[in-house]
Parts: sequence; C-alpha cells; structure tokens
Amino acid sequence: RARALLQQLPPQDCDERYCPDLSEEERRQLRAFSAQRRREALGQGLTRPVPAPCHGCPCRKCGRRLNKGDPGVSASGLGDQFWHPSCFSCHSCHQPLVDLIYFQRDGRIYCGRHHAELWRPRCASCDQLIFVEECVEAEGQRWHPEHFCCLECDEPLRGQRYVMRSGRPCCRHCFDSLFAEPCQACGDPIGADSEEATHQGLHWHARASCFCCSLCRKPLRGQPLTCHHGQLFCSETCSLGWDSSSTASDSSDSAFASAPSPHS
Ligand SMILES: [Zn+2]
Ligand SMILES: [Zn+2]
Ligand SMILES: [Zn+2]
Ligand SMILES: [Zn+2]
Ligand SMILES: [Zn+2]
Ligand SMILES: [Zn+2]
Repeated sequence: RARALLQQLPPQDCDERYCPDLSEEERRQLRAFSAQRRREALGQGLTRPVPAPCHGCPCRKCGRRLNKGDPGVSASGLGDQFWHPSCFSCHSCHQPLVDLIYFQRDGRIYCGRHHAELWRPRCASCDQLIFVEECVEAEGQRWHPEHFCCLECDEPLRGQRYVMRSGRPCCRHCFDSLFAEPCQACGDPIGADSEEATHQGLHWHARASCFCCSLCRKPLRGQPLTCHHGQLFCSETCSLGWDSSSTASDSSDSAFASAPSPHS
C-alpha cells in the first residue's frame, strides 16, 4: 500500500527536498508547478451514498446510472457528480483512487504521477520531473541530459553513440562486451558499430563477406536464401553442393575441395 502510494503520488513531484541535485532555477520551477497543481487540480474522492436529488445520474466515467443510496464517489471540487467506486481511477494507469488524493484535468481523474506527466516529462533514470529546457528522448522515454548514462558503466552518453537495450542506453564498449553476438561466418562479435543480419535466431555481420552463400560466396542481403546447419546458401543447388563437399572433404579429388570454407 505504501509503495503503491509512492508510485501514485511521487514525493519528488511536489517537494524539492527529495530532489537534492536541482539547480536554483529548477527548484523555483518545481515550487511554482507544485503550488499551481495543488491550487487548481488537487482533491480527494470520498465515498458516500448517492443522495436522492442525484438519483439516476450517470457515472462520470462509464455513463451507467447511479441510483439513490448506491455507494458513489464524489470528488471535492468537481461539484455534484458521481462515479462508481470502481470507476474512480486514474485515467492513465487505472489505479483506484477512492479515498485518495487525486488530480483532475478537463473533468478526468488522474493519480499524482500521471497528472504531473501531462505537463512535464519524467526522467526514466531518476524518476523526477524534468524542468530543464532540453532532455534526451529515446524509444518514447526521456531523461535529464546528465542522467542519460550507460546501463553498465554509467558513462554519460549525451552526444555519444549508444544502443538501446531493454529501454536503457548502453555505450558501444559495454554493448560489445555484454551483448554482441558472434557472427556465424567469421566468428567475431558483431559490435554496435556493425550492421547485423539475423536468420532463424542466428547472427551474421550484414557485410557481403559474412552474410553470403557458404558455397558460391554470393552476397545474400535482400536475396532469397536457405539455411542448413547454420550455413547460408543462395539455392538448393549450393546447399546440396556444400553437403557433398563437406562429407567428401577428406577426399582430395572432391570437386569442392577448393571451395573456401568460412571456418578456414
Ligand atoms: Zn461507472
Ligand atoms: Zn496514474
Ligand atoms: Zn534524471
Ligand atoms: Zn558502458
Ligand atoms: Zn562476420
Ligand atoms: Zn550459392
């Protein structure tokens, strides 16, 4: 319950003491933002039986009628309007807000977290609202520029190249050592700087010298291909040729003995 409340009503959205790293200007903006929200949008939804004059009024969320005596939730500051208790929830995250602090905008109810995010982006790293002019955006998330850091080594990545991994940025160096897949053809890891081609869960450098027919070396990017035992082929003919060359590879008179092998 306490955790859910922290999630719904992040203290750092309204109290600068939870944000020790803010500049004086950011503090000023946070104070003004918080004061304005309290004044204009904050309230508490309270459960009470729907009074007789409101018999048959539609629920603000689902539109179904509430009858007199039914439990209804009325929102302080939104007049004589009622919600079903189960309908009184955040418009964004659907967390129930009965008997809790809510915020409203345009007649809709929000938890503190999502109401704040209607106005300000939230940093995906520190979970604080962003009051500085510029922020970093990637894959629908935003960061304070100085909080956009490698998930592994914590290097700031602002202005650097990076790879997104499970919604978090990773520097190229860490990406190569943590996540790079070995190329099926040359065996080297496929670093963040290289283009990668995948097929049936296997990985290749996308360059023509790696992603090519194992027998005739024809580049296969954007071409029809078949894959047998982790080897790529441009055609059934090459695939069959490879099979006979590898089974006959001890034989010096094999027609395919001189075919370059990717494992050589
Ligand atoms: Zn309803
Ligand atoms: Zn919410
Ligand atoms: Zn941040
Ligand atoms: Zn790193
Ligand atoms: Zn390769
Ligand atoms: Zn081929």
